[in-house]
Amino acid sequence: STTSGRYIKGVTLGEGTYGVVFKALDTLTNRTVAVKKIRLGKYKEGVHVTALREIKLLKELHDPNIIELIDVYPHKRNLNLVFEFMESDLEAVIKDRNIVLSSADIKSYMQMTLKGLAQCHKKWVLHRDLKPNNLLIATDGQLKLADFGLARILGSPDRNFTHQVFARWYRAPELLFGSKQYGAGVDIWAAGCIFAELMLRRPFLQGSSDIDQLGKIFAAFGTPRESQWPDMTSLPDYVEYQYCPAPPLRSLFPMASEDALDILLRMLTFDPKSRITAQQALEHRYFLIEPAPTRPVLLPRPP
Ligand code: ADP
Repeated sequence: STTSGRYIKGVTLGEGTYGVVFKALDTLTNRTVAVKKIRLGKYKEGVHVTALREIKLLKELHDPNIIELIDVYPHKRNLNLVFEFMESDLEAVIKDRNIVLSSADIKSYMQMTLKGLAQCHKKWVLHRDLKPNNLLIATDGQLKLADFGLARILGSPDRNFTHQVFARWYRAPELLFGSKQYGAGVDIWAAGCIFAELMLRRPFLQGSSDIDQLGKIFAAFGTPRESQWPDMTSLPDYVEYQYCPAPPLRSLFPMASEDALDILLRMLTFDPKSRITAQQALEHRYFLIEPAPTRPVLLPRPP
């Protein structure tokens, strides 16, 4: 069993949804790691044990595109998760004005995202909170999904306002309508929003409230008809929206190829039952035709 004695604490890297993240040295392997301190104090009795057991299952998700959970140990009223240390994240890449992203670069980032998702979905783990700042980038250019499964295991913590805002822009319409039986489609929707953001270099659907978020979605894709999404009207928070026609998607993404627009539309499909899966997306023509995805080591990155 591990104790906190194994790690030498370094600087604070940031404050996340669940707690503070520290840089640390793993004296066992001499590797730099990131330790995420999860405050369990506010969770009910017993959650501790369940969370620990379930988080340990995440250690089994070995994949080049999923961040490695090196260790998990309880410490005082916290649960400490030890991850491999990552240089950067996709949000930093998107925001860096000095970085030019070619269509081959965008394809590479999308392929790595979808590969990570396909692996998790195969094991019935959902992310639920995918956004550019939890797509981390390693020194070798590999993109790795972070925070996988934590949303389900730990539930939504007392999120501060900024977290809530960012997460909303990537939230699938079924979640915004209060669906409780959602599936892997919520991650595909988020990945579609990230794809759009890589092309636009700004968040695609920036709603200012949950209602406004749906308004932004409907303004981009048109208000869904009953035939497009039969289950919509029976969702818990369903409200009727004023009819809004869809502008041609091409007008929003003037530079995208036909195949890029096609896969984007399949990821951002209203009905989660008709939405493309991660595995199907990886087999889409977009990934098979030129240009080939940029090799991760050759991807542009922030200094
Ligand atoms: P959020 O909950 O907002 O997604 P996180 O809890 O994942 O944020 O992370 C908070 C901060 O810690 C991030 O801004 C990030 O810079 C840093 N961080 C998280 N994980 C790692 C990691 N594995 N390597 C390096 N930095 C990390």
